[in-house]
Amino acid sequence: MEGQAGERVDLTTLRRQLGAAFLAAFLCAAGLPLPAPPADAAPGVPRVSDIRAWTNEIYTRVAIDTGEEVSWQANALRADPVRGLPPRIFIDIRGAGIRDGKLKPVEVRNGLLRQVRAGRFDRDTVRVVIDLERESTYRVFALPDPFRIIVDIDGEGEIPAFPAAPGAVPPSGPVAVGPSPEDPGPLSVSPPVSPKASPGGSAVPSALPAIAPSVESPRIASLLPSPARKHRVRVMIDPGHGGKDSGAVGPTGLKEKDVVLAIGRKIREKLSRTGEFDVRMTRDEDVFIPLEERTAMANKGRADLFVSLHINASPNRKAEGYSTYVLSRGASNREDLELAARENGVPVRKLQGVKFIIDDMFTGARKNESLRLAKTVNDAVVRRVAARYPGVHSLGLKQAPFYVLVGARMTAVLVEASFISNAREEARLRDPLCLDGIADGVVEAIRYYEQNGILAHSDF
Ligand SMILES: [Zn+2]
Repeated sequence: MEGQAGERVDLTTLRRQLGAAFLAAFLCAAGLPLPAPPADAAPGVPRVSDIRAWTNEIYTRVAIDTGEEVSWQANALRADPVRGLPPRIFIDIRGAGIRDGKLKPVEVRNGLLRQVRAGRFDRDTVRVVIDLERESTYRVFALPDPFRIIVDIDGEGEIPAFPAAPGAVPPSGPVAVGPSPEDPGPLSVSPPVSPKASPGGSAVPSALPAIAPSVESPRIASLLPSPARKHRVRVMIDPGHGGKDSGAVGPTGLKEKDVVLAIGRKIREKLSRTGEFDVRMTRDEDVFIPLEERTAMANKGRADLFVSLHINASPNRKAEGYSTYVLSRGASNREDLELAARENGVPVRKLQGVKFIIDDMFTGARKNESLRLAKTVNDAVVRRVAARYPGVHSLGLKQAPFYVLVGARMTAVLVEASFISNAREEARLRDPLCLDGIADGVVEAIRYYEQNGILAHSDF
């Protein structure tokens, strides 16, 4: 059965079409100009071009591609057993059309996600409806260049309720898509994030004003140690960049995407050889994978550890050394902010868009463990490489807003293994011995981490 929001879209469209026919006849008779066509038909209007989803029975990430920045609003509806309607999350995208006027629904039905569908809600609004199999918490944020809206849905309620961030921008006013009389209102278990586009800037997530006291209290994060692990530790290795995205390029043309893929393969081989780990890679060839997909692959695969591999670069050709990062909303210095912007593929000024989400999602045990793993990785990598070469520098444990780490449900770190812009370090990155040293360091750190039982806190 079609979800309620979908019915509303269809009925509204039908009514509008009928109304438009009468109006057009009237205007023609009166010699007046016809109103503008729907946004789908207008040139230069942003369009919802694709809907992508990664899902298992406790986790779903949906990405809605618009390419260009759009104004959007997210909300949710409870299940309506009387009408046979499932819980729904919907995102209204204003001033937008749909590519070719129609997008095929994404059908899943895996116990968490039923389907994702898009339809025109009114002349200027496209509504994307996520039909759930059961009520779940969710987070919504946008990433720029190309613009896409990301919806993370947690079927286990592990993510804490979205807090009212200090200084958060309240919604600009009532929107046309608010609960209708027959709708029971937003899901109380899922205070919706209500981002709106700031004038001339990127979409800024903001918290809705406090919602009315609800039947169910918002769930509180449960980050206590989970029961003893019954599976081999799952590690997702993420070689950065790939395909059309070369990453940083060294003075003699060495590409970051090739170096990190080689390191990733070595880590997989060395870790797999121990028999203690289930190792996967986000890419094992020279292909482009969007950042949000890499995180989704780790979450969908229920990885216990996520290790993103990169090589640093700087306009200062003397910059050198190894650093390992965890996610944070900001960076301690300009260099780290510029690094995150480059790795995210966006200008520095667009880095602000997800900061409230980062504060909310990356806290407590998961952050502490990521910090510990990052330090362990960096120390081991530097020690292993220094055993092979003189003058190896550690820049230490750092924090910055890397998009690829946003929404990761496990211990997650990002390695910046020396500077490809530095002639000496670039030369070393051409040497398999150096790549072995880096891989050995990562493997040593992961094994230490696993053997010391620190890995007991993953959401899975
Ligand atoms: Zn990189």
